[in-house]
Amino acid sequence: MNRKLALVVGGSRGIGEAIALRLSKSGFDIWLNYRSNHEAAESVKLKIEKNEGDCELLPFDISDFDMVSDILGSKVKQQVPDVVVFNAGIARDNLMVFMTKDEWSSVIKTNLDGFYNVIKCVLFDMISRKCGRIIAISSTSGETGQAGQVNYSASKAGLIGAVKALAREVGKKKIIVNAVSPGVIETEMTADLPKDKILPLIPLNRYGTPEEVASVVNFLACEENMYIQGQVISVNGGLAT
Ligand code: NDP
Repeated sequence: MNRKLALVVGGSRGIGEAIALRLSKSGFDIWLNYRSNHEAAESVKLKIEKNEGDCELLPFDISDFDMVSDILGSKVKQQVPDVVVFNAGIARDNLMVFMTKDEWSSVIKTNLDGFYNVIKCVLFDMISRKCGRIIAISSTSGETGQAGQVNYSASKAGLIGAVKALAREVGKKKIIVNAVSPGVIETEMTADLPKDKILPLIPLNRYGTPEEVASVVNFLACEENMYIQGQVISVNGGLAT
């Protein structure tokens, strides 16, 4: 019997790395996508293989429709992933009044168009097989809005809308679609934030860990008795309720 396969989009660092390691531990073979950080991706692959897991690196830029179609499209012809975790995302923060067109467009192209580009490649085959799980990583910024992040908040709110609509479209085909919405998680993306100003806003009084997000993704990916559909599961230490 084929082992189950998970595609982790943006799996070379941070939350994506933790998700890849966790899903591998749960028995999934991993297709690990990333953009350009080959060294980081190789290190995740090594960690997975050390634990007797299987990991194939799939570098491509999710914002480039043609590149995604070429590289992922040809892989999907060989095997269809059972689970797709759409985790990759970027932030280009600025106040709206100063935000450049490039800051706006690059975030929307990666965080939201990327979802279209990737899911379009796998959805038809998932529907044909009548099974599959899609998990998108949104953000508290997409739920509540965040000053200085109009572009990022719009992209992450857009992901929530996309997940909810898609869940309605494909639920009858037994495809489970949900979003996980992290608060402030200890990764490179948050390394430069003013921790002393942020911690008082978080009831648990600490940043979350990538592993705490990964465990929720793992639940949505693996749990057999699944009646959660089109939901946003927040992992934010109480930052937003
Ligand atoms: P990191 O910046 O640490 O890692 C981002 C990952 O996405 C890397 O693997 C990167 O690849 C990949 N990536 C970025 N752009 C592209 C692209 N165009 N094509 C393919 N892969 C790409 O991010 P985090 O781990 O902090 O965040 C992961 C997700 O969680 C993001 O969507 C983020 O918005 C979201 N999130 C994070 C929070 C946090 O506090 N950290 C809070 C809420 C949500 P490469 O290594 O090659 O650059």
